[in-house]
Amino acid sequence: MSAERPLVGRLAPSPTGLLHLGHARSFLLAWWSVRARGGRLVLRMEDLDGPRVKPGTIDAALRDLDWLGLDWDGPWLLQSSGMDQLRAGVAELAGRGLAYACVCSRSDVRAALSAPQQGDVELRYPGTCRGRFESLEAARASGRDASLRFRVPEGPVTIRDGFAPATCHDVQAEVGDFMVARRDGTPAYQLAVVVDDARQGVTEVLRGDDLLPSAARQWHLQRALGLPHPTFVHVPLVVDESGRRLAKRADDLSLAELRGRGVDPRAVVGWAALSAGLAVAERLTPREALPDFTLAHLPHAPVRLGAEELAKLKAAR
Ligand code: GLU
Repeated sequence: MSAERPLVGRLAPSPTGLLHLGHARSFLLAWWSVRARGGRLVLRMEDLDGPRVKPGTIDAALRDLDWLGLDWDGPWLLQSSGMDQLRAGVAELAGRGLAYACVCSRSDVRAALSAPQQGDVELRYPGTCRGRFESLEAARASGRDASLRFRVPEGPVTIRDGFAPATCHDVQAEVGDFMVARRDGTPAYQLAVVVDDARQGVTEVLRGDDLLPSAARQWHLQRALGLPHPTFVHVPLVVDESGRRLAKRADDLSLAELRGRGVDPRAVVGWAALSAGLAVAERLTPREALPDFTLAHLPHAPVRLGAEELAKLKAAR
């Protein structure tokens, strides 16, 4: 479906912390992938997670992208500025009976599970409030705040990917009916991504493979809302020496820190390009790497950023 639409990629950072080398690599790959085929690229700041948004991080991200030599087409979009469209998406789901009000708290969900799960594992919502209220208003009249959950169809879907192997996800079995609007009415991440990608005409979503499970949820929402599916391209994350993914709080790896130290951004681009299997110089601009760009040599394993390599990057003036 997306093959007939003009190629549009996107960068979608969340301003919840400083961007780091892992973001730089994914953003460069997204930029290369689209620019190498003459496509457009849009930028969206995903600032819906109010309490986690950190002051100054939008400006820092804009400066980081500029420093790296990445550009985008048209004005960048602040996700919260398009609240009307996001709420319309939520309302459409609710209006068509594809989303329902839920008054369960996190602990209710936990208590309803037969086997409590720990750590990062997401809780599967057992569907307690499915069919319980006629509307959001009726749920709120019960005196509790209500979120809205998407009625996830049963059964597996196969998500084909432009890089990662195809994966099969049974979203209903894995996470159940997931949230599309929070109790305070804020549209949730999955819904917002789907509505905004469609609004910005995005046809290629290249991002870290930590979001692969989300692709299946987004696929269901796209289908429910009659929106085209973009091509998904999930690339491996950058990990540290002990194999842990780089975190936004690891400030010494932040692009702002490297910028502040006077590091040559072309060294960061070179590191990203070489780690992606491109046969290019150690220092170059994103545009200079374009003629050599291909995803064909990108390793499927996470990219390890060792102390030695990091020290070399930090010293690259
Ligand atoms: N804003 C999300 C993040 O920074 C990425 C969303 C996406 O690429 O779909 O983690």
